[in-house]
Amino acid sequence: MKSKIVLYHPVPQSLRDELDAHFEVTAFDKVTDSNRAEFLAAVFEAEGLIGMGLPVPTSELSGATKLMVIATITAGYDAFDVAELTARKIVLMNLFDPLTETTADLAFALIMAAGRRIVELDRKVRLGQWLKPVETPWFGLDIHGKTLGIVGMGRIGGAIARRGALGCGMSILYTARSPKPEAEKAYSAKHCELEELLRESDYVCLAVPLTAETKGLIGERELGMMKKTAILVNIARGPVVDEKALAQALQNGTIYGAGLDVYEKEPLPMDSPLLALDNVILAPHVGSATTQTRDAMAAYAAESLIGYLCKGVSRNVVNPEALGG
Ligand code: NAP
Repeated sequence: MKSKIVLYHPVPQSLRDELDAHFEVTAFDKVTDSNRAEFLAAVFEAEGLIGMGLPVPTSELSGATKLMVIATITAGYDAFDVAELTARKIVLMNLFDPLTETTADLAFALIMAAGRRIVELDRKVRLGQWLKPVETPWFGLDIHGKTLGIVGMGRIGGAIARRGALGCGMSILYTARSPKPEAEKAYSAKHCELEELLRESDYVCLAVPLTAETKGLIGERELGMMKKTAILVNIARGPVVDEKALAQALQNGTIYGAGLDVYEKEPLPMDSPLLALDNVILAPHVGSATTQTRDAMAAYAAESLIGYLCKGVSRNVVNPEALGG
């Protein structure tokens, strides 16, 4: 008999066929208030879930007594209460391979666009304000040869470092919980404390997971340590930065600019002070959002789910303590 699973994210038809071949699938393109009860009823019967994040709080899964595994089509898993899942022996599997390079591309796009003020200048051209050869007020900042500080030298941080060091001849500073000898060798990266990184870097790029330790990691005090000419790029998670303090720092000229992909509240509310500022680029959480990568991510998560429920093999398990229960 096929296991029952719930799919709560649209996937290409070929992948849906693959899931149908292995499972009895109940699918939801989107979970909203109007179909939440129906979603939960299906979840309560399911052995596996697959989708992006989780559309309900983990606590609402208490009736899902048959649930064995969740394959999230994301790298970050802050949408889940991992301790709660582990206590209930529900295995959580994430992914990273298909999206590491794509997210690093976006980080670098934000570094370049913020440094060279591409979005702001594009707006000026469209408004008919380009009337003569540009002068100092429209000039941007160099990227090549500058210092790039990477907060969180993991998979994505490493891919950003490679672009910076080998592509643009940047000096790399980084923080992580432990030193990364490979990055130090390959990119001459230097491990340092956050304070040194903030004081010395021309570009500060956040690539840490959102955890109790990283929530609010960059606030008024930390922004105050950065150079007036520095740019902050956040592709990690919104709550790593105190957004109100960032808006103030951008407005006051405490730092030069920012490139953001993630926010404290998403979608970004229309009353956000960030919207009024020219020196911040606002991307709508698109780190992994290319068709090729999103399809590869869904396929990867589906393979993980099939592996676990049909073949008893596991990979990318966030909570290994839940295995074997
Ligand atoms: P990863 O490989 O696990 O790397 C995370 C890095 O952060 C590691 O180097 C880790 O240090 C470091 N770190 C963790 N806690 C820290 C702390 N308290 N202080 C300093 N460093 C700390 O993760 P990844 O695949 O690179 O992804 C990073 C995050 O990016 C994800 O968790 C996700 O939230 C975000 N993300 C965003 C998008 C997007 O669409 N914008 C896409 C993908 C991922 P150690 O190695 O020493 O443990």
